[in-house]
Formats: sequence, structure tokens, C-alpha cells
Amino acid sequence: MKFGTKVIHAGVHPDPLTGAVMTPIYQTSTYAQDAVGKHKGYEYARTKNPTRSVLESNVAALENGVDAAAFSSGLAAMDAIVKLLRSGDEIIASNDLYGGSYRLLDKIFKNFGIVSHFVDMRDPRNVEDKINEKTRLIWVETPTNPVLSIVDIEAVASLSKGKEIILVVDNTFASPYLQNPIDLGADLVLHSATKYLGGHSDVVLGIVIASTKELGEKIHFIQNSSGAVPGPMDSFLVLRGIKTLHLRMERACANAMHLARFLENHPKIAKVNYPGLESHPGHELAKKQMRAFGGMISFDLKDNSIENAKKVMESLDYFTLAESLGGVESLVSHPSSMTHASIPKEERLRSGLTDSLIRLSVGVEDIEDLQKDISDSLEKI
Ligand SMILES: *Cc1c(COP(=O)(O)O)cnc(C)c1O
Repeated sequence: MKFGTKVIHAGVHPDPLTGAVMTPIYQTSTYAQDAVGKHKGYEYARTKNPTRSVLESNVAALENGVDAAAFSSGLAAMDAIVKLLRSGDEIIASNDLYGGSYRLLDKIFKNFGIVSHFVDMRDPRNVEDKINEKTRLIWVETPTNPVLSIVDIEAVASLSKGKEIILVVDNTFASPYLQNPIDLGADLVLHSATKYLGGHSDVVLGIVIASTKELGEKIHFIQNSSGAVPGPMDSFLVLRGIKTLHLRMERACANAMHLARFLENHPKIAKVNYPGLESHPGHELAKKQMRAFGGMISFDLKDNSIENAKKVMESLDYFTLAESLGGVESLVSHPSSMTHASIPKEERLRSGLTDSLIRLSVGVEDIEDLQKDISDSLEKI
């Protein structure tokens, strides 16, 4: 099955009871049992829910995994993965991680004796240098947020292979339409389905895809034991969003490519971070491990002024000033004060995240309107 067919058909079947073509929202907490110890595979909805099960099968197929487990948010999904570890174990993570992921490792799991090392993963040797006998997890995000650096998944996978180390790739920014980390050697893939999978900015949900049955079982055990499961309505909304993932991504990528070129040639812009540009240091690698370059762009003004950056962001009409990304509508954000405020300033600057950096989540609107909006806003400074 090819991707555009998978998003619609993988794991999805008409409801056996009524023939309903769309997966029903099984809004129930429990299931009648035929006799003591005899049931239809469903006992209690924290453990299993049919709407959630369909979503899990569908996303497992999109990522070429064997199993998946859905959670109430992307961070709840990450929380479940880190719970595979024990006190004393160590993690190596990207130094320009999503702000919330950094916070979970540095402010929560650190208190439980799980130490994280944050390294610049653009050079896999930095990962190699930190691997020791306590390393149990490598956490990769690529493209990174918000400077869109590219990490070589295959190269990092070659470092963890054969060791007792789980390689996780947060594939939220690329979506399974652009990148399939399991094919490149990852053990687990994480999505904040709040972003491209859901695609309509109307739901918060996370999902973990496992490359082996054994890892899938371990994640499902934590899902049931810790209990951060999504509701059936939210599972349904993500399942519905996924049906147009390929169409939305295609347009978002084309729009972003166009805007990145426009910004790169604009006299008031110093730097554009977009992996589709030949000037991007990760361009060749992105071409190798991704099918296109995504809908996220960040850029810096020539004068580096926070005031002017604010002026640009606030005068945009079609780019709504908001956190999050991956919806049909375009958004603009100011990472240093919004999504990445929880990362210390020195850490931020080390990964190129200046106070005047502007991030765009490019939606699927008409490109003429988007370009004019940005052009007009830049006129105001
Ligand atoms: C949003 C996001 C998360 C967290 O997901 P939530 O659904 O907000 O909990 C993790 N990683 C990345 C890259 C994200 O963009």
C-alpha cells in the first residue's frame, strides 16, 4: 500500500455492527462481558478502546512500525518512553529540543535520578563521545525546533545498534509523510499528533510507534499502568485529520519552499533556516532522509532587533500569533519568549536561537496571500 492509500485505509475497516464507514467514537469506559473471564478483547477503556486501537494501527502502518500506543499529549507519550528507564540510567538528547521535552528531562526526570546530556547532534561524534555504560536512551529530534537543524538518523542509529540503547526519534516536525525513522534504524518514533497528524489545531494527543513487538508491549504496559490515555473523541479527531495528511503536507511544503526563497532574497532578512534551501547546512542530508522539506521556517532580521521582530509578528494578518504548528492555518511565533522560554538563554544562543528569531508554521492557504502578508509586514520596519 502506498502512503496516500495507507492514511485512509491502514487499520481502518467499516464497523462490523452497523457498516459505518467512519470509525465510531466508542464513548464508553467499560464493556459488557459474556461470562466471567470471557470478553471481546475489551475490558476497561484505560487499557483499550476501539477508536484508539484503530488510530494506533493506522499510525503504526504510516511509520512502518509493528505497534503504536496513543497518549493524552505528545509529552505524555514522551513521559511513557522515559519510564522504560530506571534511576541511574542516562539519556543523550539534542541540545535544541522542543522546550517541553527539555523541561520534562531536566526538571522532572532528573529528580528521579535519570541524567540527560544535551549535545549538538548535527555532528554524530558528539553523541558518540557521551555514550557510556549507563546510556539507555538517545533522543533525536530532526528537523530540530526552531532552527531546523538536520540530524543524521542513520549515523546515530549506527552508534546505538548492538548496545542496550533505545534510539527514539521525535518525528513531529517531519510527519510520517516526509520521514520514517524506523526505516533508518530508530527503535521508537514519537509524534505530537497535536501538530501535523491532527492537522487542524483542534486536539492535543501523542503517539509512540514501536519497531518491535517487545518494545510495543512495554509501551502499552506503561500506557495502561500510568494511564495518560487520550479519549475516544480525540482519537477520532486525529484519525480524521490523518486522512488528508499527504494532501496537507504537499501543499504546506510547496508553500514553505516558496516563502523560504522569498525571505532569503529579501533585503531586510539576515538568515533563513529552511532545510529545502541549498544554503542550509543540512540540505544534502535532508534530501537523503526526507521526501521533502516540511512546512516550518525560521528567520532572523538583519538588524537583530527584538522590537522589529515583534512589529513584524504583530502586523501579520494570515499568520496568527500563536504557539504550536502543523495545522491547516499559518501561524507565527517568537520561540525565545514562547515555546522555548523554559530553556536557559545561554543554551538557546548556543543552538542559534536568538531573541529576534521568528518561526513560521506555513499552512495550506494560497501562497499569493501568504507572501503578500509577509511582504507587507516587513515594509513596516
Ligand atoms: C508540540 C511538540 C511536542 C509536545 O507535544 P504536546 O502534544 O504539546 O504534548 C513534542 N515535540 C515536538 C517537536 C513538538 O512540536
